[in-house]
Amino acid sequence: MSEVVLACDECGAALVIRGARTATCPYCASPAVVERPPSRDRPDPVFVVTFADGDALAKKALAAWVSSQSIFADSALRGAAVEQLQGIYVPAALYSAVARSAYSATIGENYTTTETYTTTNADGSTTTHTRTVTHTEHRSLTGEHVGYVTDVVVSGSKGLPNEELEAVEPFDLRQLRRYDPRLISGWNTEEPSRSLEECAALARGEAIALEGRRLTDLMPGDSHRDLTYQTRVEWETMDPVLLPVWVLAVRYRPDRPPLRLVVNGQTGKATGAAPVSAIKVGIAVLVAIAFIVILVLAFAGGHRR
Ligand SMILES: [Zn+2]
Repeated sequence: MSEVVLACDECGAALVIRGARTATCPYCASPAVVERPPSRDRPDPVFVVTFADGDALAKKALAAWVSSQSIFADSALRGAAVEQLQGIYVPAALYSAVARSAYSATIGENYTTTETYTTTNADGSTTTHTRTVTHTEHRSLTGEHVGYVTDVVVSGSKGLPNEELEAVEPFDLRQLRRYDPRLISGWNTEEPSRSLEECAALARGEAIALEGRRLTDLMPGDSHRDLTYQTRVEWETMDPVLLPVWVLAVRYRPDRPPLRLVVNGQTGKATGAAPVSAIKVGIAVLVAIAFIVILVLAFAGGHRR
């Protein structure tokens, strides 16, 4: 089958389309797609997570996402129709490393004491009471922590920002399979549009943030503050992987641009930015103002009496 690459001028995505052509970019709905031959020296992915289901999963995910939106969301969402729906194997990088951290923090340990105090009664006599008082003793702590960070996944596509991929993670990586072109035949795939260095920088950032959350959990005592740490990563590995993602363009009002929804093709977890209804927010603000006015009037009335 002939293979063409559609490169999007708008968001930078580069889709390898097999068979049916699309005229618009599935990521940003821009018509600014140009054909170019596939790059010859592109390394094959090492692993692939396959789609769990057909597009029924994406439609179910859309319905669940719509019903999970806040009361301020535009109610036209309920009648939203899928305008474009594409399953794409998105290039990503699977990263692991050893993280070595030096940290310092102030640890608080609580202890209680019993205090006695007296009160004076109406008749001038006194009564003695006891009460329990909690105190915190602070001590400083420094240390080193070494941990293995695995399964960090970052987007290798400029069309799919890493934050959006993170919002539909996790992927069940126990289902990871060795890449074989037969596994993805019939699906659209995308060429990496982010360099290995860019992916590595994103992955390192995620690994260091993960290490920070681990250190926070590891802190002893009843409380801690001023946690600072410096993390070095060693023994890094990074493998190119393809991940199954549905990208939906959803039309909810004829006069508005379609909404983009991204769905994890393995689990059905969805992310999108729901449009907020200006009317609903306006009514809520008016109700709040009316409530404040009523309170003020009641307060002023109470004083006049
Ligand atoms: Zn695009």
